[in-house]
Amino acid sequence: MQFDVIIIGAGPSGLFSAFQAGMLGMRSAIIDSLEVVGGQCSALYPEKPIYDIPAYPKIISQDLVDKLYQQAEAFSPKYFLSQQVIALENCGDFFKLQTSAKNTLQAKIVIIAAGAGSFGPNRPPLKDIELYEGKSIFYLVTNREVFADKNIVIAGGGDSALDWAISLSEIANVSVVHRRNKFRAAPATIQKIHELESAHKIKLVTNYQLDALTGKNGILSEVILADLDGNKKTLIADILLPFFGLTQNLGPILDFGLNISNHHIKVNYPYFETNIKGIYAVGDTATYEGKLKLILTSFAESASALHHAYSRVFDGKALHFEYSTTKGIKN
Ligand SMILES: Cc1cc2nc3c(=O)[nH]c(=O)nc-3n(C[C@H](O)[C@H](O)[C@H](O)COP(=O)(O)OP(=O)(O)OC[C@H]3O[C@@H](n4cnc5c(N)ncnc54)[C@H](O)[C@@H]3O)c2cc1C
Repeated sequence: MQFDVIIIGAGPSGLFSAFQAGMLGMRSAIIDSLEVVGGQCSALYPEKPIYDIPAYPKIISQDLVDKLYQQAEAFSPKYFLSQQVIALENCGDFFKLQTSAKNTLQAKIVIIAAGAGSFGPNRPPLKDIELYEGKSIFYLVTNREVFADKNIVIAGGGDSALDWAISLSEIANVSVVHRRNKFRAAPATIQKIHELESAHKIKLVTNYQLDALTGKNGILSEVILADLDGNKKTLIADILLPFFGLTQNLGPILDFGLNISNHHIKVNYPYFETNIKGIYAVGDTATYEGKLKLILTSFAESASALHHAYSRVFDGKALHFEYSTTKGIKN
């Protein structure tokens, strides 16, 4: 799979980089460990309004992501989601990247738009958990209907755990397991959970933690719980949804041979190129003197990096600068 540009990260800066690449006639691929695009905006605050995006007095975070995605679609970038970039090989005038889904991608330019690193779930330390992941254990719910009529154990005491417990209780048998008897969610959500418990529509199991799994070939049959004194409890379960938050980790990017400063990638200003020619870093992951970690800053960084990369992508050809109003977009 050969591209002109590979973009690591589908947050706002990765999505806008795909648009900029397209404007300059480059074919791009975008890789993200999440199964959805949008980076922090989608994973951490999709419902919040943002007030400092130029020309939008107020825009809901997920709406901004949707618009960035739609803008990039004019150039049909190829998405590789639910997979992490785990290795980068510098082959001289091109780079080879490998992903955790065993894809190998090649390009002359790499744009690292990785924020604070790959998003991943906080996984509970349960023996053989990986055998059940994707079959009976899920860290994200994308289509709740697939869980209809199932016995579902939801673990966690925050907003995600309780919001999904309320939603799934309409179509399935839901138990919520939390290590304390106090929840950390919006007061209205907690009240609703207690109402559903009183109406026997949800089972609450507090002061217990996940301890072990029982099942066969990745198909769960029971979740075993334990309290602090080691007392055990067994819940019949088809599905386990652990909601213990997300982690972010630069992980494999730290091994690419880049200059790293305090978990950020050092770039030269104003081209945003790293110490390796042909690899650029933009958005939250990039650092230079005076860096402002804002979405609007990342847009300008993407534009500058890709304009600078042009001659490498097109074998030394000089860039003839054009405004988008002059160039237009062919649909
Ligand atoms: C609560 C909150 C409110 C905010 N409000 C504002 C605001 O009002 N205005 C503003 O300008 N900014 C705001 N921000 C900051 C803004 O969200 C970030 O600046 C922006 O998301 C950075 O975008 P990015 O694309 O650089 O990185 P991210 O959004 O972090 O996206 C990076 C993506 O890269 C992926 N990734 C990383 N490493 C790999 C890998 N090895 N393989 C595959 N994928 C990888 C990650 O999974 C992630 O999806 C806010 C942030 C938070 C948390």
